Amino acid sequence: MNYLSKICRTTQPYIAGEQPQDKSYVKLNTNENPYPPCKGVEDFLKSFDTDKLKLYPDPQNTALADEIAKKHGLEKENVFIGNGSDEVLAMCFPTFFDRDGDGVAYADVTYSFYKVWAKVYEIPSVVIPLSEDFKLDVSKFKQVKCQGMIICNPNAPTGLIVNRLDLMAIIEANPEKIIIIDEAYADFCNCSMANYVSKYPNLLIVRTFSKSYSLAGARCGYAIGDAALINGLKTIKDSFNSYTVNALTEGVAIHALKDTEYFSSCIDKIIATRDSVADELRALGFEVLQSSSNFLFVKHNERPASEIYYQLKTAGVLVRHFSMGRIDNYLRITVGSPEEMASLVSALTTILKTEPAPTE
Ligand code: PMP
Repeated sequence: MNYLSKICRTTQPYIAGEQPQDKSYVKLNTNENPYPPCKGVEDFLKSFDTDKLKLYPDPQNTALADEIAKKHGLEKENVFIGNGSDEVLAMCFPTFFDRDGDGVAYADVTYSFYKVWAKVYEIPSVVIPLSEDFKLDVSKFKQVKCQGMIICNPNAPTGLIVNRLDLMAIIEANPEKIIIIDEAYADFCNCSMANYVSKYPNLLIVRTFSKSYSLAGARCGYAIGDAALINGLKTIKDSFNSYTVNALTEGVAIHALKDTEYFSSCIDKIIATRDSVADELRALGFEVLQSSSNFLFVKHNERPASEIYYQLKTAGVLVRHFSMGRIDNYLRITVGSPEEMASLVSALTTILKTEPAPTE
């Protein structure tokens, strides 16, 4: 007897990057921040009154919602918080899309979780191909028949951005559709549309503390948008789990938001490392896409990505290889600390000097 639902039996889940427990790697595979969270986060955790864990957290995470609202010049009614932006995005599907609607549109090369959520919620997917060089064709997104769309900006795994005017054109051409922008990496460029949520009632921005705030382990993400959109998300959340964000995480995120100076200094360092490593990789024969995020998307002119991936892993350096369609020959490399990147470049230099593995 198979007790699993049809959906469960037929869903291919998203495969998260490895978090190996066996040995220590130079870990450049899941776009984590190489720098620790700010001192305020450490102090908060050290002085946390564990007695507070007896109680459930505030189901609305009001204190954090207030801080996020302040950051973006909005009200707490414009903020929805979740257990990582993955959870926020997952909740967007039943909130904004119908099974018998026109579907959710997204690019063919983008965050591969979107298609998984569409599948589990049985929402039709409308897949829009990016150009040969992974650029988003604005005219296609302006005209597509769908109930709404998700645009990842900067895009993952390419690191490329769509500029603000193009996004505005897409939003304005589709006032009857929800436009969700996944800004997981937007702090690494100057491309956020957060300032436009008061202007456009159909715009929802989803952001995370995982990357730019060095808090992937705390699991916190949020959406900002018109109060009607946020209320919709709250309805779905409260039909699923009232307490998605725990008390420790809420406090940690509040303290991370307060230290804007440390935040900017980490971002500046990551951008400087990113740009210098991009040049080093080009010198080693890689094609490197122009990154606006904290990772590089690269392809070697002579060696297959899968081969380099395994050789790097053997050398103790983990990067991400997606063995799928158009991006099969690319590697996505997180920008780590300068020391980690030096290990990467040194391992690659050795690998590229050796003879390629014989093919059968
Ligand atoms: N969006 C994109 C594009 C991502 O790459 C990730 C990280 N895998 C997320 C959302 C989710 O991040 P988190 O759940 O850690 O906030």
